[in-house]
Amino acid sequence: MRVLVFLLGVIPAFTQQYDLLLKGGHVIDPKNGVNAVRDVAIKGDRVAAVGPNIAASLAAKVIDASGLYVTPGLVDIHAHVFAGDRAGTTNGGQSSFYPDNLSFRTGVTTMVDPGSSGWRDFPDFRRTVIERARTRVLAMLNITGVGILAYELEQNVNDLNPHLTADMARKHSDVVVGIKSAHWWGPNYISVERAIEAGKLANLPVMVDFGYFLAERPYSQMVTDLLRPGDMSTHFFRWPAPLLDANGQPAEFLLQARRRGVKFDVGHGGGSFFFRLAVPLVKAGFYPDSISTDMHTQSMNHAMQDMPTTMSKFLAMGMPLVDVVRASTTNPATQVKRPGLGQIAVGSEADVAVFRLEKGTFSFADVIGGRIEGNQRLGCEMTLRAGKIVYDFNARAAVPWGTGNLKYPVK
Ligand SMILES: [Zn+2]
Repeated sequence: MRVLVFLLGVIPAFTQQYDLLLKGGHVIDPKNGVNAVRDVAIKGDRVAAVGPNIAASLAAKVIDASGLYVTPGLVDIHAHVFAGDRAGTTNGGQSSFYPDNLSFRTGVTTMVDPGSSGWRDFPDFRRTVIERARTRVLAMLNITGVGILAYELEQNVNDLNPHLTADMARKHSDVVVGIKSAHWWGPNYISVERAIEAGKLANLPVMVDFGYFLAERPYSQMVTDLLRPGDMSTHFFRWPAPLLDANGQPAEFLLQARRRGVKFDVGHGGGSFFFRLAVPLVKAGFYPDSISTDMHTQSMNHAMQDMPTTMSKFLAMGMPLVDVVRASTTNPATQVKRPGLGQIAVGSEADVAVFRLEKGTFSFADVIGGRIEGNQRLGCEMTLRAGKIVYDFNARAAVPWGTGNLKYPVK
């Protein structure tokens, strides 16, 4: 009898091969073609199993995810998280924020900073933010050496140096995933061309914020001729981009650019998302390749808000949930050549988000206060980064306060 009690006591310890089990959630993992109720088991920092019915007894901790959607941790490829020592500058200290402040509470586990830093100040960015954040932070180097310090400085042709940019990118190839051209005012494509040159030297994709639409440098020429397959045009739905033909349909050059492999990124931001472009394009089935925020302190407290809100806008416009998740996970991960991210595959790092899809009446605004109504809204319930619960909206991982063996973590 004593032996039996002993055995009953230790068997669970032997059989609990998983640390955590997300049970009964609807998994949407577009990369691996999963769109069904599945259990997700985690061991250490890795996904250990994905299946229709993994026994709860196999896990040390079980989270009931029934009625919720389980997706890969979101990959926001347009989030500004480096200000450096820049308080008071045009676009630095006033507008960047620390990644962990907003990432996990919105289901985001990877942020890509597009060009807040350039080759001159990237080491600062790496030391002060990338190395410290729990969020996975990747970066695109601005083709301007000083990054987005001030729009005026981004016009300095002498500071657009492809060789020094590519050298810095190669030196930090573990976290630098692209080159950025932004806010160029000139009547030519010099900033874009130099960024592409750096991209070729470092074998990295380029993201372009085209900014203003001048007759001397047509947007259509950039996406059909200059950009290479895999390069990205961000702020896609920025008025007055010439994206629609006379009948309000996607312009022919857009279809051509997409066939070439050019990628279109949302980059919502504070001034770059207009329903008058997004609604007709989404209705016509021309979906963005990647959904991203252009996160900074102004856009996050304005119409944009965060990833789940931006994703919900696309649901409201009629983009199917699976496509919205694809554009927020595996697509952006692949665009920055990190195809292992943005999926829930056995063996991959366990970055996972859990969402509720609220039903009701919701309103969403664009950057000039244009509104649409929707009947669904995504809200983040839980986020896992490398297998650890880093956000738990409804205390699903907690136990009743008077039970269990709860201790204050004293060192
Ligand atoms: Zn931006």
